[in-house]
Amino acid sequence: MKPSKVAVRVYNVGFGDCFLLTFHYAAGNRRVLIDFGSSAPPRQSPSDYMLRVARDIAAGGRLHAVVATHRHRDHINGFGSRTGKIIASLAPELVIQPWTEDPAALADATEPAAIRVAQNYEDIQNRSAVERLMKMGRRSRAVYVHGGSPSGLEEILPGVEINVLGPPTLEQSAAIRRERPRDPAEFWQFRAFLETAAAGSGGAEVFPHAARYRPDAAPADLRWFLARTRGLGEEQRKEFVRVLDRVLNNTSVILLFRIGDFSMLFPGDAQIENWSWSLGQRCYRELLRGVNVYKVGHHGSFNATPRSLWKLFAHRSRKKNGPSRLVSLLSTRSGKYGDEDMHTEVPRQTLLETLARESNLFCTETLPKSRLYKDFEFVPDRGVPDG
Ligand SMILES: [Zn+2]
Repeated sequence: MKPSKVAVRVYNVGFGDCFLLTFHYAAGNRRVLIDFGSSAPPRQSPSDYMLRVARDIAAGGRLHAVVATHRHRDHINGFGSRTGKIIASLAPELVIQPWTEDPAALADATEPAAIRVAQNYEDIQNRSAVERLMKMGRRSRAVYVHGGSPSGLEEILPGVEINVLGPPTLEQSAAIRRERPRDPAEFWQFRAFLETAAAGSGGAEVFPHAARYRPDAAPADLRWFLARTRGLGEEQRKEFVRVLDRVLNNTSVILLFRIGDFSMLFPGDAQIENWSWSLGQRCYRELLRGVNVYKVGHHGSFNATPRSLWKLFAHRSRKKNGPSRLVSLLSTRSGKYGDEDMHTEVPRQTLLETLARESNLFCTETLPKSRLYKDFEFVPDRGVPDG
């Protein structure tokens, strides 16, 4: 049994992410919600607008799984308050979050790490969302994932192979503890680097210095983290979590869905350090080559679609309307973050141009005001028609 069709509903949440995936089976549909948040809704009062989105999600009936890629407001605040109540009422069987949200990540914790360090954490306003996700997970099944671990979605989505490509554990890649401000080879800051990067790409190792782990050799759980924190005092343990809190994009869940030859990539806001683990492995690079649908990382930021990832996508094409041309889905709102003079505006112009030139790009900003979402349908056996 495998799905005959996959529908992706891209909600226009302004600056944020909200993607509803519907897998069509003969025996009934299965629905997976990936993120529900906004830090700047496109219009109206934010709560009203998000309520409309929540009601639309609910109108489709049962939700089978919820993915909260990482703990930033623009990805999870919809899970809090009234809108979160609506989502919880859809009784998802499975709640997927990154390993860093696992309450077990702090020795005797009964609450997510976020709450335990809340006094020092700027995103305290996400508390109700964090608590709701936790409660939903407890009622059904909570899975905290890391690179190479099972997603838990396998039983819910027969015939779909799911790979968790990130976030790495600290053991898999200690690099996630920092976000590098610049990376001429990988970021989209300067136009000139397009050429330089392209010229230097010929089959070389993407991350020559990255540690290598075979997926089956990856740690099965948080053993390393726990071992490392066991000897520490409470304060030091909290500090450890705080360090990761400052680099939340590096804790983003990266999911790759595959149905036969058809595949869709949802990387949340993953940045280069998060990507380095999967991009450093031949088997994952092979899978990434085949991506047909790419959820553009981090709202089109200059630092979240590594050039080495983009160049892997074999379905990129300059031929408009080619039958299997890569589809890029971008959820963003311009003018909110970054700085044009610094070449850090979101979405980043050079990236946007490339996405538009080499893929069928859809951006939520192009939706008319009256539209809450746009639907895309994919028939895995028939290549990739656009929506
Ligand atoms: Zn985001």
